[in-house]
Amino acid sequence: MKVFKFGGASVRSADGVRNLKNILSGSGERLFVVVSAMGKTTNALEAVVSAFVAGERKTAIEQLGRSEEYHRELCCGLFTKGFPDEARHWFDKLRGMLSIETAKEVEYDYWYDRIVSIGELVSTTIVARYLEQEGMNVTWLDIRKNFITDNRHRDANIRLDISTKLLSKAIREGNPETVFITQGFIGATADGQTTTLGREGSDYSAAVAANILNAESLTIWKDVDGILNADPKFFTGTRLIPEMNYLDAIELAYSGAQVIHPKTIKPLQNKNIPLFVRPFGNPGAVGSRIFPEKEGRIDTPVLILKKNQVLISVRPRDFSFVVEDKLPEIFELARIHNIKINLIQSSAVNLSLCVDNCRRLERFGTELRKQGFRVVYNERLELLTIRGYDERSLARHTSTDGIFLVQKTRRNARIVRAETPDGFCLEI
Ligand code: ASP
Ligand code: MG
Repeated sequence: MKVFKFGGASVRSADGVRNLKNILSGSGERLFVVVSAMGKTTNALEAVVSAFVAGERKTAIEQLGRSEEYHRELCCGLFTKGFPDEARHWFDKLRGMLSIETAKEVEYDYWYDRIVSIGELVSTTIVARYLEQEGMNVTWLDIRKNFITDNRHRDANIRLDISTKLLSKAIREGNPETVFITQGFIGATADGQTTTLGREGSDYSAAVAANILNAESLTIWKDVDGILNADPKFFTGTRLIPEMNYLDAIELAYSGAQVIHPKTIKPLQNKNIPLFVRPFGNPGAVGSRIFPEKEGRIDTPVLILKKNQVLISVRPRDFSFVVEDKLPEIFELARIHNIKINLIQSSAVNLSLCVDNCRRLERFGTELRKQGFRVVYNERLELLTIRGYDERSLARHTSTDGIFLVQKTRRNARIVRAETPDGFCLEI
């Protein structure tokens, strides 16, 4: 069996869904297919959550209506009978919930998961119905019955033990001729509460499915040619990296390369399953291949830019040595508040943490202050990682204004600096 994953961009239009069908029917394999929410649906549903939690019920319902309209229009281009009832059902259910329930700000993450998960449920419903209409044998799975997670809402981890049992059973009992269509990004706790796995988490879902099913390979179909040595949104002169090993891939993803989710590699590495990243719009092209055997390193500098970073300086007010005496305390607070630390630098009494900007930072800071630390923030920064830097690339990216911090090993350099304005492309 092979696992395919299609991201939101691949299914953002009726043409996209048709293209997906052509890819599936041309593959000649037993397939397990993971699909994201369509287009920018997750962002749209995030806006619904914010309005709902802020008590603006009417706005939330209006915004949901706009998302429904987008799906309805997309379906006009696919179905002879218009919007499928099963797709409408998800919207009706959510609308019902928004009309009667009330959310508290502290329950934000819980409501987020209940609301945003609809995006994937709708998209897979539409895709499955369309494939059926086109004569394919399809089984739609509600992955929340198979992927059991912990209860870390918005950043849940799949529990492999129990999920393995459940998913294997579902596949064993399924029709051997069928194509399985299911959601990425979502799961449920053992007591049935819907969870999500973190933005862009469908890659992780697909990798876990590949692991459980002992898949021959995982293919992630994307709207880019494969893995490039930098994101063309931010850089000019990018190149395709045709092959790399798991180690390079996990480091790349972890440093913020958007092309694969950082949690994707481990489940594949554990079972030696190769990963292909291929262009959705050009299914004949080979894309990039990530596999265990490859020795040697990528021979070109790889640049990874993470925007929306904050540099936090933490100093014990009583001048305790920060590393010797305070590290566990600070890290425990970071863990509790789910702060994603991307870079650490220390001196005698100062610890600098470069972290993703998020709404939980404020509470983290407040707790640190309560526990006797002085906390200073620098916002609107970006973290540039250059793997395999050469003198030229390093010089180019450290000679600008607004450099806050540079860390270097023999191979890799990391630079924290003022954020490049949106829409501005840098040379590699
Ligand atoms: N739909 C989710 C997101 O946009 C998950 C995914 O696409 O992987 O983040
Ligand atoms: Mg997506």
